[in-house]
Amino acid sequence: MANVPEYFGSLVFDDRVMKANLSAPVYQSLKKTIDEGAQLDLSVANAVAIAMKDWAVAHGATHYTHWFQPLTGITAEKHDSFISPSPDGGVIMEFSGKELIKGEPDASSFPNGGLRATFEARGYTAWDPTSYAFIKGKTLCIPTAFCSYGGQALDKKTPLLRSMEALNKQALRILRLFGNDTAKCVRSSVGPEQEYFLITKEMYDQRPDLRFTGRTLFGAKPPKGQEMDDHYFGVIKPRVEAFMEDLNEQLWKLGILAKTEHNEVAPAQHELAPIYTTTNIATDQNQLTMEIMQKVAAKHGLVCLLHEKPFAGVNGSGKHNNWSIATDSGQNLLSPGETPYENAQFLLFLCAVIKAVDDYQDLLRLSVATAGNDHRLGANEAPPAVVSIFVGDELGAVLEAIETGTPYKGAEKTQMTLGVDVLPEFNRDTTDRNRTSPFAFTGNKFEFRMLGSSNSIACANIMLNAAVAESLRIYADRLEQAEDFETTLNSMIRKTIKDHKNIIFNGNGYDESWIREATEKRGLLNYRTTPDCMPHLMDKKNVEMLTAHGVYSEDELRSRCDIMLENYCKTVVIEGNTMVDMAKTQIIPAVETYAADVARSGAAKKALDPTLACSYEAGLVKKLSELTDSAAMRTRELEEALARLKVAEDVVGESILIRDTVLPAMEHLRKVCDEAETLTARSYWPFPTYGDLLFSVR
Ligand code: ADP
Ligand code: MG
Repeated sequence: MANVPEYFGSLVFDDRVMKANLSAPVYQSLKKTIDEGAQLDLSVANAVAIAMKDWAVAHGATHYTHWFQPLTGITAEKHDSFISPSPDGGVIMEFSGKELIKGEPDASSFPNGGLRATFEARGYTAWDPTSYAFIKGKTLCIPTAFCSYGGQALDKKTPLLRSMEALNKQALRILRLFGNDTAKCVRSSVGPEQEYFLITKEMYDQRPDLRFTGRTLFGAKPPKGQEMDDHYFGVIKPRVEAFMEDLNEQLWKLGILAKTEHNEVAPAQHELAPIYTTTNIATDQNQLTMEIMQKVAAKHGLVCLLHEKPFAGVNGSGKHNNWSIATDSGQNLLSPGETPYENAQFLLFLCAVIKAVDDYQDLLRLSVATAGNDHRLGANEAPPAVVSIFVGDELGAVLEAIETGTPYKGAEKTQMTLGVDVLPEFNRDTTDRNRTSPFAFTGNKFEFRMLGSSNSIACANIMLNAAVAESLRIYADRLEQAEDFETTLNSMIRKTIKDHKNIIFNGNGYDESWIREATEKRGLLNYRTTPDCMPHLMDKKNVEMLTAHGVYSEDELRSRCDIMLENYCKTVVIEGNTMVDMAKTQIIPAVETYAADVARSGAAKKALDPTLACSYEAGLVKKLSELTDSAAMRTRELEEALARLKVAEDVVGESILIRDTVLPAMEHLRKVCDEAETLTARSYWPFPTYGDLLFSVR
């Protein structure tokens, strides 16, 4: 597979294929649906279905599936074959517009957070023509939204599309006010940078914690960790290189523009970044990327760990969500312009984001909340749980000059009066290397860095799109009524900066003093854990905003809140049970066996020569025995904490009990077992150590 341009996108029913395989009227009509959201009629759908099927069959497909993203966070598919009996006893390959547009998987086995109780058990999937169909293995995958019969979203794509529509609507209002009559639509784009770990399958198989929970629940610090910083951007090992080559080929065939790969800070950690695309497509492609990473790894005898914190004491994995908004003609609305007028428009969009992030800190925080990500945020390796914005020094100075009406030092013009014509020119700073900020302006886009590596990017972008749509709505309402556009514009920009400058922080986000300043002086929110933030999804202001823009109904929000908390509880309970099991059946027995052997060796020596002190053996046996006693006690405490969860009245109560009792009990048990590991002969230890795991791939 040498010729990349030739095979790039070869498994995607993309624009090139559509143009080549659809009649001109059908193509035009479909394009109108894709670009402008126009209704699609059945005759067009039928024609598309036939072309799609013929193309897929020519590429070896025998089945099709409506590919969707239920609230489990992963993707789901149910395969149907194209085969249909023909009168002569043979078969023909068939696929209709109806089958393309709508599917009916059984919704009852997917999480629905109570939506099923009020609505029918069955759900349906609806074709999303804005994301291209593709072939995976022998199956044509059709990206779809997944809803209940009552029309309630049971997936992540539906609210994402709604949030994009909300943003589109409000952004267009603003553009019209700036005299732009040509833009047909405004879309948000995302380039998600994906971090992951690679370890060997052989090591993975020996660790029940990795197999059951995706992360290590025990493990003493290895003699060498990431302290040398010798892995970051270092030479990629041959086995990893082979994996990356294979991965790229698979992704490229699916039209995914995987562009950069490099080693990350931690040993065995790597990153993949695609070229950005429309949020909706980026979301589908990121889900696909995660799936294919795991498949390709397996082919190479490796396991790709997507967990946010696979190893304690070693950097976890995140996903940087690079986000911008642009018109259909490609104008990036977060790019500072060439003229003062363009700059004014840019500043308004910038202010919309600043206001959105400040007003909806809680929504952004909870959009990335999972049990796994709780180990990262605020652990001095990832942004803190406090949301703040980095704008850089130059833009910061511009904002300050506008707010105070004082001269901007960078411009030679003297006074910054607030007429649009004198908004300052400034250099765009694309050199942000402040990696400690949760939300950084990087020249022409924002980088939201709180996402966990396994998160679907849908959730964060739903909240981001919706919150920015709300800022823009408020601005547009005012500007449309304004007697004098420029004066109103300027006072609004100034007011936004004044009201929301508390959210702007250009310093070190890892600094303990920042957290104090943020919470005590600036009144920013600091929700450390999932149980802390998730219930705020139902706060009045959040429900009002999200329902007003048609992104979620109140029922859908309640169901999300429940499902996210349920996921949190289930995740930690499985971890707790796995720890109990490993401690009881592997760790304690191993330490016991070792202690008994040491004791026997001491006794044997004493039998040979009663004058020998054997103090090493005696001391070690005593220590090991204390540790097994303590491990047994800690195990019992953890079991009790897990058992007590039954008394919780609801999922909120359960999540709080988990946060306050189960997680601390897990930590206590781990501490004792990790100490035992450092004192037990390696040959007795029942599974690979951190050193084995982290340096397993060569
Ligand atoms: P880095 O963050 O390492 O400096 P880049 O800034 O070049 O790297 O890009 C990181 C990611 O941001 C890539 O996925 C890239 O495609 C994406 N990106 C670049 N420009 C935009 C944009 N205007 N909107 C959204 N994502 C973008
Ligand atoms: Mg980046």
